[in-house]
Amino acid sequence: MKYSELFGKATKSELKEDLSANAKYLIKGGFVDQLMSGSYTLLPLGFRVVKKIEQIIREEMNKTGAQELLMPLLHPKDVWNETGRWDSAKEVMYQFKKDDKEFALSFTHEEIVLDLIRKHAFAYKDFPIKIYHFSTKFRNELRAKSGLLRGREFLMKDLYSLHISEKDLDKYYWEIADSYIKIFKKLGLDAKITEAAGGVFTDEHTHEFQVLCDSGEDIVFYCEKCDFCQNKEIATVQDNDNCPKCPSTSSGQVGKIKSGNSIEVGNIFKFGTFYSKKMNVYFMDEKGEKQLPYFASYGIGLTRLMGILAEMFHDGKGIIWPKVVAPFRVHLISIGKNADELYEKLKKDEVEVLYDDRDVSPGEKFADADLIGIPVRLVVSEKTLRQSSGQAGEQIEYKERISEEKILLNYEQILNKIKKN
Ligand code: ATP
Ligand code: MG
Repeated sequence: MKYSELFGKATKSELKEDLSANAKYLIKGGFVDQLMSGSYTLLPLGFRVVKKIEQIIREEMNKTGAQELLMPLLHPKDVWNETGRWDSAKEVMYQFKKDDKEFALSFTHEEIVLDLIRKHAFAYKDFPIKIYHFSTKFRNELRAKSGLLRGREFLMKDLYSLHISEKDLDKYYWEIADSYIKIFKKLGLDAKITEAAGGVFTDEHTHEFQVLCDSGEDIVFYCEKCDFCQNKEIATVQDNDNCPKCPSTSSGQVGKIKSGNSIEVGNIFKFGTFYSKKMNVYFMDEKGEKQLPYFASYGIGLTRLMGILAEMFHDGKGIIWPKVVAPFRVHLISIGKNADELYEKLKKDEVEVLYDDRDVSPGEKFADADLIGIPVRLVVSEKTLRQSSGQAGEQIEYKERISEEKILLNYEQILNKIKKN
């Protein structure tokens, strides 16, 4: 992509003082545009990041046998009345009336999934069912002040699973917990599986995936040694306590409890048969008897993830994207001489490249490259060309966003480096 042609460029204009760090960097870098508090356009650069996050999640979900579909966002009141959530969730739901009919915009999809199941699954052989989609959620968030971390409209992956036994549900629930940890790890995030409140329909906890971050709105208590972690809302421990889980682990050492601010990136819930019963969803078991399926839902916020990456991985100059989600792999800058030939070569070798071909000062190009945060910067200039004489091939300046070191390499060396890591 030629930067001169990209819609939504880095901006130097002053932003509002009270914007959170992620919003500031994402707006300045040309990733998003704010329509109003809690509502953002994903500009082409930001859209590329979110699509990469989406693909990482999709691959892991598919590995568990889940199937992707797409459910509507405009919901009739009747379905929400079946579980009582039209009233109980009215604070968070955007509800409205049109021509005597009442509707809501999707804030989640449990009711919609169960309506679907009762029309498409009838016998034990139709289970387990594992379906998910990527779509917009609308929530009347009162504190939509944290940029992409808390939108009134945001992208979520929500997966729903139904099983003929609690045991089968449990097994899949922990399989998803594992794939969530893998997803977050791929994104460079160390998420803690955190016991949390919210299991209104079972005695069990729900599990949140929390990432420690100073600007996070949640507080978690975690063990410095093992994977024990509780949300402050339900915590049974406090700072400096001995970890209650360590004695049962193999190491024999007992860690201390610490606390920290954190952000929830994912959440998984077991509902048992509560919702199936409310919505009359049954299946015939092997004996021909009517049974209620066990139900669970699993969410990950895609736009929140983009926000967290910007919030956690930046320096004074801009964002530092992890390779796997960077909008491009290489940021190519030409100074004086054009770099069209190198640009074409990189594209031919399937390297995603953003080529700053604009007629602006080198300083501006470098500043924008740092702001945008693509992992590798390549520079072609009169200087690099002068240093090419006597070398094997034309020399190009190579610099990684995370480092200050600049080195001269030829094309093959650069390609090797990029393909290797
Ligand atoms: P929170 O506790 O942060 O308000 P939640 O518990 O209401 O979130 P869930 O209903 O579990 O969220 O949604 C699943 C995931 O969707 C969350 O883990 C989070 O990543 C994302 N998410 C939830 N609310 C928002 C929001 N307002 N803006 C962006 N992402 C969100
Ligand atoms: Mg939650």
